[in-house]
Amino acid sequence: MEYKRSSALFTEAQKVIPGGVNSPVRAFKAVGGTPIFVKEAKGAYIIDEDDKQYIEYINSWGPMILGHAHKPVIDAVIEKAKKGTSFGMPTEIETKIAELAVSMVPNIDMIRFVNSGTEACMSAVRLARGFTGKDKIIKFAGCYHGHSDSFLIQAGSGAVTFGSPNSPGVTAGTAKDTLLARFNDLENVKEIISQNEGEISCIIIEPVAGNMGCIPPVAGFLEGLRTLCDAHNILLVFDEVMTGFRLAKGGVQELLGVNADIVCFGKVIGGGLPVGAFAARKEIMHHLAPIGPVYQAGTLSGNPLAMAAGFAMLQELNTGNVFQSLHDKTEYLHKGISKVLTEAGVTHQINRIGSMISVHFCEEPVIDFASAAKGNNDSFKKFFHGLLDRGIYIAPSAFETWFLSDALSYEDLDKTIQAIEEVAKDL
Ligand code: PLP
Repeated sequence: MEYKRSSALFTEAQKVIPGGVNSPVRAFKAVGGTPIFVKEAKGAYIIDEDDKQYIEYINSWGPMILGHAHKPVIDAVIEKAKKGTSFGMPTEIETKIAELAVSMVPNIDMIRFVNSGTEACMSAVRLARGFTGKDKIIKFAGCYHGHSDSFLIQAGSGAVTFGSPNSPGVTAGTAKDTLLARFNDLENVKEIISQNEGEISCIIIEPVAGNMGCIPPVAGFLEGLRTLCDAHNILLVFDEVMTGFRLAKGGVQELLGVNADIVCFGKVIGGGLPVGAFAARKEIMHHLAPIGPVYQAGTLSGNPLAMAAGFAMLQELNTGNVFQSLHDKTEYLHKGISKVLTEAGVTHQINRIGSMISVHFCEEPVIDFASAAKGNNDSFKKFFHGLLDRGIYIAPSAFETWFLSDALSYEDLDKTIQAIEEVAKDL
């Protein structure tokens, strides 16, 4: 399959942008070949620079839950843009989206908007440290919380794809305050807490992991973390950058019924514009500047275009039955993939929750980073390129989750399953 114009554009890009991309996984290093350059996208489809159309399963790594160029979001952005793009002064739309977000998510009274998921998680941890007066944090191997220094310790997807779980440039001084635990292993967390009694400010977790493929928590795991946090005066930080406004209106807190102390958002909350946010109950949020001493700021934070896009998106999600529809479509896809891979005799595991799903080419269930890493990458590469050639676009790394959009039709899902049936013959 030729990707002529994409190849030419990639060659040009590499001369002026490191690796030709502005975020590493886009470079296709894990799967080989040339990244396709996107010309435009609408609904469930993207069209590349060679005018080839694809059915889309990344959706900008999550945000485009209603599909690309969703009209209410686009209209909101256009209308706002006509009135100016940034002021660095308060605007009404910031309060409107804050009120809406707080009304949709359990257990939060206040929210602060930033420009990315990275900023949200970085600020949440600073707030947790400021609130508790303790320095250390626990994170889980394979969980990604953005590219801020404290988190680049066994950080899943992008980092693992490039074989650098711990990035150079993160100082030993910073790394020593990040304690690493095994996902879905409560005993391991207990041990770490007892070895660092009185020193841990927060446990940060993707409550449904999405950066080592999709890994839901085993029964009792999140509840156990909640109990441990309560017993040891530790804040529980849910990084819902992927799962917030995707798995349910109120994210994992609502879906699985476990309360967090601080919640981080990104992706869907910005409707496809650069937005992140972190939220908590009033008592915690009052520690933030300008009320409290924990500093956090941003020239473009609360940007009117981004807030308009996010507000339009949340309004759409707050009505109707998007989440049920997405669940049904993802379940349908799961059953279809499972059937064709089983019939072709391909060893595999499929993890799914809500509209997040991942296919792993391994024998054992995938419940943590170690089991995710056992997937057969050669099979994944063939799978990826076989699908790409057939007009199906999934994430170019075995460690990434697929994100469905509600713009996908059952016909799209059938085409995808049929393509997988064809590709399975070569695996
Ligand atoms: N947290 C999670 C769970 C993520 O998946 C990501 C990005 O994929 C981030 C944080 C960082 O978000 P951003 O890329 O917007 O900085």
